Amino acid sequence: MLDIKVTHPAQGKPLPDPDTLVFGKLFTDHMFLMDYHAGQGWHDARIVPYGPLSLEPSCMVLHYAQEVFEGLKAYRTPEGKVQLFRPLENARRLNSSCERLCIPQIPEEDFLQAVKALVHEDMSWVPHKKGTSLYIRPFIFATDASLGVHASHSYLFAIICSPVGAYYPEGINPVKIYVEDADVRAVRGGTGYTKCGGNYAASIRAGERAEEQGYSQVLWLDGVHRKYIEEVGAMNVLFKVNGTVITPQLTGSVLPGITRKSCLELLRDWGVPVEERLITAQELFDAADAGQLEEAWGSGTAAVVSPIGELAMGDKKVIINHGQIGHLTQRLYDTLTGIQWGTEPDPYGWTVPVE
Ligand SMILES: *Cc1c(COP(=O)(O)O)cnc(C)c1O
Repeated sequence: MLDIKVTHPAQGKPLPDPDTLVFGKLFTDHMFLMDYHAGQGWHDARIVPYGPLSLEPSCMVLHYAQEVFEGLKAYRTPEGKVQLFRPLENARRLNSSCERLCIPQIPEEDFLQAVKALVHEDMSWVPHKKGTSLYIRPFIFATDASLGVHASHSYLFAIICSPVGAYYPEGINPVKIYVEDADVRAVRGGTGYTKCGGNYAASIRAGERAEEQGYSQVLWLDGVHRKYIEEVGAMNVLFKVNGTVITPQLTGSVLPGITRKSCLELLRDWGVPVEERLITAQELFDAADAGQLEEAWGSGTAAVVSPIGELAMGDKKVIINHGQIGHLTQRLYDTLTGIQWGTEPDPYGWTVPVE
């Protein structure tokens, strides 16, 4: 149990207009902070007014990127209550990322307590409008003032929150993606399975090029053979081929998404055949040629599911399900969002109330 000291700002900020929320631009009144020092462990858990941090220019994270993060949301239910979606999965994944980056772990129950305490303080910031939510960003970074390359002896664990608008204010529009054949995001043995800032830094160039060419994102290939698909942008990717849902297996270079996991659990529950395995990009184009590539979608906390309407590789292009969202993709979207916003029952015990 953390002993969390709370300090309030002199004056709260005005709550934003729920119609004009832009992802990740606006932050709530408070943030959670906790320090780590070798020999002392995690200490000084506190909730303080949101504001700038003061860092030494030699702060280790700025040079060697020893940093991990998480992303989850708080949702407003029709009764006006607030709930989280599978937050212990985030706690576990954060610790798995910490282990890889040599960052001291945080007990799962402390992580959950910190998230709940912060959301509780800023409860009025969880918007009510349909499709909106409060995005929660926990992160840990190395704070030693030192340029020596080794694991830091001190860290800061912080949580900030940002109200976000509906991901699909104009309805779900399938996106266009292409198979990236130059850059790779991650390789086995690296940090692909962790949520660390470095993975994102390595992925930005391909994303920028895709946008320049009129695509929303890239479909990443594995870094060794350059033929097995891994993820789409910063989302996991799933395909329905001839009635079976296939998705890349978690080989170490793929991020184990909580939305991916939830999709797979729902599909198995619904009796839909599911395969987690290696999938070549060629296999997808062959399936498309045979008329068997029925649906494709990305999965992640921000969008829940993001249907893929067009897939390109070199000068080959295929349109999936006439560029429309597929039935199964829609059912996953409706079920997951129903559970998250509490408009549907939660038979799996995935939601956690914030009192
Ligand atoms: C966070 C993330 C995902 C999605 O994970 P969720 O837990 O479903 O939000 C997928 N791929 C990458 C690279 C990610 O960083």
